[in-house]
Amino acid sequence: MKQLSGLFCLFALCTLFSCNHSGKRVLFDGQKADQWELKQQAGVKNNVISLPGKGDQAILKNGKFKNFMLTMEVKTLPGAKGSVAFHTDKSANKGYKVSLNNNSDDPIWWKKTGSLESVRNLTKSFIKENEWFKLGILVDGSFIEITINDEPVVEYVEPDQPFRISPNQAVLLSEGTFALLNDSPGEIEFRNIEVFPLNNTKELFITQIEPIDEQSDEIIRLHQEDFPVLDYHVHLKGGLTKKVAAGQSRHTGINYAVAPNCGIGFPITNDEEIYTYLDTMRQEPVILAMQAEGREWLDNFSPEARNEFDYVFTDALTFRDHKGRRTRLWIPEEVWIDNGDQNYMDLIVDRICDVLKEPVDIYVNPCFLPSPMDENYDAFWTEERMNKFVDALAKSGKALEINELYQIPNKAIIQKAKDAGVKFTFGSNNVTPDVSDLSYSIRMKKECDLKAEDMYKPKVKL
Ligand SMILES: [Zn+2]
Repeated sequence: MKQLSGLFCLFALCTLFSCNHSGKRVLFDGQKADQWELKQQAGVKNNVISLPGKGDQAILKNGKFKNFMLTMEVKTLPGAKGSVAFHTDKSANKGYKVSLNNNSDDPIWWKKTGSLESVRNLTKSFIKENEWFKLGILVDGSFIEITINDEPVVEYVEPDQPFRISPNQAVLLSEGTFALLNDSPGEIEFRNIEVFPLNNTKELFITQIEPIDEQSDEIIRLHQEDFPVLDYHVHLKGGLTKKVAAGQSRHTGINYAVAPNCGIGFPITNDEEIYTYLDTMRQEPVILAMQAEGREWLDNFSPEARNEFDYVFTDALTFRDHKGRRTRLWIPEEVWIDNGDQNYMDLIVDRICDVLKEPVDIYVNPCFLPSPMDENYDAFWTEERMNKFVDALAKSGKALEINELYQIPNKAIIQKAKDAGVKFTFGSNNVTPDVSDLSYSIRMKKECDLKAEDMYKPKVKL
């Protein structure tokens, strides 16, 4: 088993919006939009700049901004999807774009509001459609910060040698104007647009965040190809707080789904505790998952309570063996291989197939074998057993986790599952604050040629 490497260091950052506002420039005050070039159906109505449909744009005339803090209020109407571009030009063909997308039905579910497009895509928006929210974009030297309602959602440092694929060659810092863009039939509205040019970076007191070496980083490659970058199985364990987890996620560019363990002897044991937990987490920039524990979980939690999570997952590590003994496969003292290991293997496959009947969305820690059987993992998972498992999995409609902690399942199982149309998730299942870098998942993604559409879409609720 792999020791997970920690990527994260914590850096102090001042409150970015507390600096001197004397240089403020109002770009739209609710009256005239004469500073903007309005294209197609773009226009001013009811004191907002409105982009009613696809291709509508508002581009700031003669804008030349390098270091700045841009703030505005935005509302997306149902089905709307667009962006705010900076360091761009009259054609909006250069610079970075910040996504505006609160549509939970969009099949491109990994590029939500606040994403620095194809560089730091976000899998969760905590803004609803038809709701005004405050967007902040700050550029200071090589540092870019994006805030939603004053909460940071992206912190990115462009390194000296950024990794960009050919369609994104112009997605770089330079200087330029701002553009408001609609890429959908849904309407987007903007108001209170202001910019604070920053001439002296010292006034921000930023302690620079270390840039990531993108020449070797795998995560930027996933973002560049618009593959969802989500760790679906993160635990707040070993002192990892939600605040530290969110900061670590912003630093690495890996979005997190955080799951509490729910079941007998775990932190959450009943419906009431689920609701209390979710009340503290709903507005966090993480997806909310439930890990269902043991086989008793079905009796302990109502369908209504578990449906409040964005998804539910379970594993098949806990079961009653052939003599009725409660078995936890990862604990050697609770595993009794007393009837030959081939028979025990058949028992494990049967128990997995039983668990696949439970009402969860994802099967995790998949196809785990206890020590010492794990040393012959590929041999125990014969063609016949793989076929039995994959058949049951595909019929169940559940997604299959590719697990970092145990580096399972093997490539042969993943390939068979993919061929059967099964969806996938990547999961750390971290037992310490060190959340993984998804290296096993990324290797399997390459070897089995997994695409964005092969990944499971969480049912994010607000
Ligand atoms: Zn777990």
